[in-house]
Amino acid sequence: MINIKILNDYQRLAQEGIYKPISCMDKDHHVPLVSRLEDDDTISMYCVMCNYKIKPGLALYDVAKRRVEQHFAKNPADYSYIEQD
Ligand SMILES: [Zn+2]
Repeated sequence: MINIKILNDYQRLAQEGIYKPISCMDKDHHVPLVSRLEDDDTISMYCVMCNYKIKPGLALYDVAKRRVEQHFAKNPADYSYIEQD
């Protein structure tokens, strides 16, 4: 089960330069992908520039989750600027 909040937190930490963002493969813009909950309740990530879209798999998700958890374990104060459930 993929939690969209983890992906959002990951992309936010990437914006801070802490991790490499999950980005569009297009080398001309290469912007971070935005997570979205689809009508069928699955999660996709898409590019606002070209609409390139992926369905993040569990392998990608697990890496993002581990990194988010690691970061907040080490920097509990950073939780303050992250959206809470
Ligand atoms: Zn793109």
